[in-house]
Amino acid sequence: MKKHLVWFRNDLRVDDNPALLGACRKTNEQVFAVYCYCPEQFKLHDVGANQQAIIGQALNQLITKLKQLNIPLIVVAAGDFNGSIQALLDLIKVHKISDVHYNIEYAYNERERDRKLCEQLKGVADYHRYVADSLTAPWDILNQQGQAFKVFTPYSKVVKRHIERHGIEPVSAPTARAKENYQPLSTDALADLLAVKPTANHTPDVSEQHAAELLEQFIDDGVADYHQQRDLPARKGTSQLSPMLAIGTLSVRRAFAAANRYQGEGRTTWISELIWRDFYRAVMWHFPHVGRNQAFLSVDKHIKWNRDAADLDRWQTGKTGVPIVDAAIRQLLDCGWMHNRLRMVVASFLCKNLWIDWRQGERFFAQHLFDFDFASNNGGWQWSASVGTDAAPYFRVFNPVSQAQRFDPDGDFVRKYLPELAAYSGKQLLQFEDKPLTGYPRPMVDIKKSRKQAIAEFKLAKESSSE
Ligand SMILES: Cc1cc2nc3c(=O)[nH]c(=O)nc-3n(C[C@H](O)[C@H](O)[C@H](O)COP(=O)(O)OP(=O)(O)OC[C@H]3O[C@@H](n4cnc5c(N)ncnc54)[C@H](O)[C@@H]3O)c2cc1C
Repeated sequence: MKKHLVWFRNDLRVDDNPALLGACRKTNEQVFAVYCYCPEQFKLHDVGANQQAIIGQALNQLITKLKQLNIPLIVVAAGDFNGSIQALLDLIKVHKISDVHYNIEYAYNERERDRKLCEQLKGVADYHRYVADSLTAPWDILNQQGQAFKVFTPYSKVVKRHIERHGIEPVSAPTARAKENYQPLSTDALADLLAVKPTANHTPDVSEQHAAELLEQFIDDGVADYHQQRDLPARKGTSQLSPMLAIGTLSVRRAFAAANRYQGEGRTTWISELIWRDFYRAVMWHFPHVGRNQAFLSVDKHIKWNRDAADLDRWQTGKTGVPIVDAAIRQLLDCGWMHNRLRMVVASFLCKNLWIDWRQGERFFAQHLFDFDFASNNGGWQWSASVGTDAAPYFRVFNPVSQAQRFDPDGDFVRKYLPELAAYSGKQLLQFEDKPLTGYPRPMVDIKKSRKQAIAEFKLAKESSSE
């Protein structure tokens, strides 16, 4: 009789989990589940306390859900990725596992880990891999020459065509297994993860059930206006589903299927954002160097970044003297989440006005975001620094004043996160360069001058590189 092991990673759900369903195909065969807790790997990848805390929360709920299906989940303390391979091999031996099932992860280290495991499984157990963390598999979306796309728009067209042809059909949770097959396993290592305290003041409920409810609510009430609301940080115009998508209590395929029931510009724009998520996964898959601390474009190697620790500290603590930038960073520190428009604004300010290495921003986001997602974060930062695939042209520098004017004209967002500026009107908040705001720092750089300087520096770096 076969015995199956499902390895949960960034897919902490029972719904639309092809690996789980694959393991449960035969009702009479025993199924175990495992999660490897790798604190060393979290450290290496800068996964902060916020995301660790919601992973703990989600795992706790997953254990209960799996128990209802009579599937025991063991949480093993594995140290790092190498430790997780050994932990799995031990488990396979002890429980005489015949088949291992997992959903594919696309980043370099994860792929290397999986490759090493599969090598060691030869002659020991069969392995089964599934696509669950993207709308399309990266290897299915290629241009006419059979190469990977480097630009989003043509990529997105091919994704849409592929979906039209093949459809996306999320799979349901498996039915409960026979009770006599249930055998409680140790979840001791979970205690360490549950002990991690988030640094943000508000922790989202990331349970599978809440994610499903939030999705339905957003599709019913929010998606129709999404294209009009999504850039206004003072409104709740986006889904805020990103933490659940990042750790996998919500499936992106389920999110797509829910939106796809409707027509309209809002729905089309939202689906396009889901495709951006796929795009950055595809970039990781086809150009693995981007996940190894390197930029997609080699111009990055010719840039001499500003290494002033005090400058970085002012950005990280929201004390740059530029209200929209500081309010956004305070939102990140307070909520462990930041509005997309503001992620672009603060990223541009760090890389272009302060001339600080985008990796510093990438790292800081990873340490604080509940929704930290290696591919999207890396892609977003490289885009902002003009060193990635389909990146913003180097001469495109977001002006934080005009961004605030367009997207927070009344200053509602700024006042919410910078209570020291509560007495100022939207108009006054936009004039901070000329008219100092009492009790608030002066801007740490001249916005226009630093923009010009950045463009000149970037031009020089471009001339030194072959691109
Ligand atoms: C510098 C920078 C860093 C970023 N870091 C992350 C990150 O670590 N994790 C993360 O999930 N997103 C990241 N993003 C993308 C985006 O800001 C967030 O996905 C979005 O703000 C999440 O809010 P939401 O769920 O309300 O999004 P919605 O607007 O409701 O979008 C729905 C989903 O689509 C995906 N999505 C939306 N926009 C993007 C995008 N530009 N790129 C990739 N996927 C997208 C997300 O999964 C999101 O949850 C980053 C963007 C930038 C510019």
